[in-house]
Amino acid sequence: MGKNVTIVGAGLVGSLVSIYLAKKGYKIDVYERRADMRKISMSAGRSINLALSDRGWKGLEGVGIADEIKKIAIPMYGRFIHHKDGTTAYQPYGKDNQAIYSVSRAEINMKLMDLAEQQPNIKFHFDKRCASVDRKTMEASFEDNNTKKVETVTSDLLFGADGAFAASRLNMQLNNDRFEYNQHYIDCGYKELIIPPGKNGEFLMEKNALHIWPRGSFMMIALPNPDGNFTCTLFFPFEGEKSFNTIKTKEQVIKFFNEEFPDAVALMPTLADDYLNNPVASLVTVKCFPWTFDNKIGLIGDAAHAIVPFYGQGMNCGFEDCVVLNDLITKHNDDWDKIFPEYQSLRKPDGDAIADLAIANFIEMRDKTADPKFLLQKKIEAKFSEKHPEKWIPLYSMVTYSPHIRYSKALSEGKKQQGIMDKIMAMPNIEANWDSKEVEDAILKQL
Ligand SMILES: Cc1cc2nc3c(=O)[nH]c(=O)nc-3n(C[C@H](O)[C@H](O)[C@H](O)COP(=O)(O)OP(=O)(O)OC[C@H]3O[C@@H](n4cnc5c(N)ncnc54)[C@H](O)[C@@H]3O)c2cc1C
Repeated sequence: MGKNVTIVGAGLVGSLVSIYLAKKGYKIDVYERRADMRKISMSAGRSINLALSDRGWKGLEGVGIADEIKKIAIPMYGRFIHHKDGTTAYQPYGKDNQAIYSVSRAEINMKLMDLAEQQPNIKFHFDKRCASVDRKTMEASFEDNNTKKVETVTSDLLFGADGAFAASRLNMQLNNDRFEYNQHYIDCGYKELIIPPGKNGEFLMEKNALHIWPRGSFMMIALPNPDGNFTCTLFFPFEGEKSFNTIKTKEQVIKFFNEEFPDAVALMPTLADDYLNNPVASLVTVKCFPWTFDNKIGLIGDAAHAIVPFYGQGMNCGFEDCVVLNDLITKHNDDWDKIFPEYQSLRKPDGDAIADLAIANFIEMRDKTADPKFLLQKKIEAKFSEKHPEKWIPLYSMVTYSPHIRYSKALSEGKKQQGIMDKIMAMPNIEANWDSKEVEDAILKQL
């Protein structure tokens, strides 16, 4: 087979997989619907921040670019919970200074494109919207945004890396019998807001933490940026008593935020305008199968597995796809008849698992991070895990800090652990006895 590759989408995963393939000697053409974001100014309210964790770092290390990305990333060592009464509580994420890292999605995307362009065998084509992919002829057509001219390209391999609403995937769905497709929207959307830096450029809240304002049916989070500001994301129901549908005017926004997020309001001088002007976006899970076609076309990243953002794993999972693919190229010596089937059989269960974990974490972050019983359970698990690290890795650590553990394994272990903890939390007087030998022994007995 020849080595010409078309990649649809120059997002995070399309850009990274292009570097992996280029380093294996493939010749890559990446087609991106949008203009080159490095040449245009980003509109306000669209600058999502992402949490980059160990699986993502492993993906970046695999092509030697982790150090470059570290320059634009801020470590967050724990959750900083903001209660409604203005009090706060800090929950470390892990032990030994374990952190997740805040990066701006636009910044990391631009950096990945810069790094990809350093490879002589990668060429980006911007303003080219994928209109069709023909699996029989391996032809893909792209419409130029400006001239509206359609260009058709042929390649030996094609990767659909065009995100949650992938045109490449839609083409496979429409033209293939028995293509499984499932999409699920949660009843919450999100809106970006901002906490600017102080007068001297200083951070106005703890810099090295992910801030959460959990409020039951909704929540706000804030992640730090290198220039001293925080990108806040309000996750809010579309409908209902407190929702995007009911909070619509300047007065309603101010009243609602003063009631719910009083400590944040003081730090958000442009709150009402930002709320009224910035768009609301929806949150979707997409599961599909197959991910590969004729061993020549593959889906990767969100195109294969879009998930809700509550485990902070969408990008990390996509970067892990790249690592797995790269290992299989090495293992099977560029034999795509072996690479693609194994890629899909390894990654599909993991994509499904992290999708389910992300939905579960939506409930956890929203409802439980302020619940004393939940916090006690986490404390018991953390203590037990510290004493018996070979017997118990908390679920969050398995997902976030343990790239050697597959998501599917983390999901099944997590369910087992929850079953054990349900019994522990039902023990009489657990609030007083939580760090007793009795509790430790009760966990050990169930393992
Ligand atoms: C609010 C929010 C918070 C998140 N937080 C986190 C987090 O903390 N941690 C984390 O790991 N992940 C997070 N994610 C998920 C993460 O953003 C995605 O998983 C990641 O961007 C997926 O990368 P991708 O390259 O597969 O897709 P995308 O980043 O969506 O890139 C797809 C690219 O394809 C292009 N494209 C689309 N259609 C076409 C077409 N027809 N032709 C050509 N090009 C096309 C798009 O313009 C885009 O550039 C979050 C997502 C959201 C919405």
